[in-house]
Amino acid sequence: MAASSKLNPDASGWQTATQLVHGGQLRSEFQETSEALYLTSGFVHESAESAEGRFKGETGGFVYSRYENPTVAMFEERVRMLEGAPAARATATGMAAVTIALMAQLKAGDHVVAGRALFGSCHYIVNDLLPRFGVETTLIDGRDLDAWQAAVRPNTKAFFFESPTNPTLEIVDIPRVSEIAHAAGALVTVDNVFATPLLQKPLELGADIVAYSATKHIDGQGRCLGGVILGPEEFINKNVFDLLKHMGPSISPFNAWVCLKGLETLAVRLERQCASAKQMANFLIERPEVARVFYPGHESHPQHELAIKQMSAGGQIVSFELKGGKASAFAFQNALQLIKISNNLGDVKSLITHPATTTHQRIGAEARDELDIGDGLLRISVGLEDTVDLFADIDQAAAGLRL
Ligand SMILES: *Cc1c(COP(=O)(O)O)cnc(C)c1O
Repeated sequence: MAASSKLNPDASGWQTATQLVHGGQLRSEFQETSEALYLTSGFVHESAESAEGRFKGETGGFVYSRYENPTVAMFEERVRMLEGAPAARATATGMAAVTIALMAQLKAGDHVVAGRALFGSCHYIVNDLLPRFGVETTLIDGRDLDAWQAAVRPNTKAFFFESPTNPTLEIVDIPRVSEIAHAAGALVTVDNVFATPLLQKPLELGADIVAYSATKHIDGQGRCLGGVILGPEEFINKNVFDLLKHMGPSISPFNAWVCLKGLETLAVRLERQCASAKQMANFLIERPEVARVFYPGHESHPQHELAIKQMSAGGQIVSFELKGGKASAFAFQNALQLIKISNNLGDVKSLITHPATTTHQRIGAEARDELDIGDGLLRISVGLEDTVDLFADIDQAAAGLRL
């Protein structure tokens, strides 16, 4: 979608903050300021010949919104620039992005190695769904480089992981793990949701494919679901696009438009949210009710050095273990007034969740133990509220705990 006129300038030479506002815009003949929302399922053709040409892919032009749509294309191009990727395709949800990214590179008989600290639904895809289609999977501790190496088999085709992980914010060494994968002839796919495209650039660090839930920081205001897959031109525009076209997890133009507008404020929101999260980590670590704080941007994090080497900030998620287990964690959550109980994250509203009984309930107690997900663990997604009010809310909720 290269655009070179004055109304649709080429944003590729601009800085990130500028690209987030102007990147990928396809201004119509009406010269609208804001991106147009093309809420249409199909497109009309001037003639039978032009329909034939578009379907054959000979003339370009939009055919059907399950395939492509101008608003979706603007969103894809803006994220592509932000990531510095050769190509991007949007999906209906983050889970559609992860599932399609993996299915587009695997077939029966292949083997996947994945970091075991996975978002609940990613765990299902890797551990339950892929094996049903003849793909073997091995889950390992993503922090352990030897474990990645030891898991490699002759048929290993893909490495998959999150970093930082949900909810204990473990870090995977992206350059080193990518080296191991490439030596084995496997591609590396990173679910980069927790880091966001601003704080960590997996492709520059050596990974091949990146998947996002745009539902999180990209929309960032709790309005809609979305996802994006980024990677090499042919992989995205052939393997991924074929699956999107024929399986149909396409993003609604409306949701793509919301996410496009979300990108405009992403850098500003995230800068503030990361600063507040860092303050939150410092605030929590001093508290007598708190047994342990997990925050990659804090020196107490066991992989702090690696975190600051591959990320430009510690992120906006802080997890912490409250003394007193589940009873404390529940009483604390129930006493909060400003911070809301919700499993979403990356929102401008601060949200708290108890992973053991929500997002990580399905994986069972043994797997939770392996992942350090204790019964007192809580995860806070730090929003845009003033930290004075957030800390006051925590103070009053903690005051009611009987420890
Ligand atoms: C939320 C999330 C997903 C799934 O995204 P949806 O948009 O909810 O489908 C995948 N991975 C991670 C790490 C997430 O946080």
